[in-house]
Amino acid sequence: MVDQKKIKQAVKLLLEGIGEDVSREGLLDTPDRVARMYGEIYKGMDEDPSQHLSRTFAVQSNEIVLERDITFYSTCEHHLMPFYGKVHIAYLPDGKVAGLSKLARTVEVYARRLQIQEQMTIQIAEAIMEYLKPQGVMVMVEAEHMCMTMRGVAKPGSRTVTTAARGRFQEEQQLRQYFFEMMNRCY
Ligand code: ZN
Repeated sequence: MVDQKKIKQAVKLLLEGIGEDVSREGLLDTPDRVARMYGEIYKGMDEDPSQHLSRTFAVQSNEIVLERDITFYSTCEHHLMPFYGKVHIAYLPDGKVAGLSKLARTVEVYARRLQIQEQMTIQIAEAIMEYLKPQGVMVMVEAEHMCMTMRGVAKPGSRTVTTAARGRFQEEQQLRQYFFEMMNRCY
């Protein structure tokens, strides 16, 4: 659970640090608003993906399931700035599949924390392997990082792409290739 009192104190200090007058009207409720917002955007810290991925349905044939364009918003742990974009998940079932919204919920569990994109990609892939137990999974994340576009090299629109393959997607080049073909075909 986030400590709202600490966050309020910290935001006030931060505002003073940038030279603001914390008593001016526009900023009076800002520490409180930020503290409440943090409760929401870091909610994933208190959540566990097993609650979403343990409800499954049996399937007769193990065909690839691709869930693409799952929108996410996360926060970069190096700059405390947002990064956001899309997650694409493909998996090869082993007799069971998860409800489609459950993959999106799993993404939320890991996005609503301080993150780095590479780590989030791996955590999603490993959670699916651990709790859904498919024959393999492939996760691809495309994101824009505010810490890159708003400052520093300032290149709006540039995207960072990360992938993680586990199980048969890791072992078989052909399956990975099939994933990228499916992704291209859907555009
Ligand atoms: Zn950053």
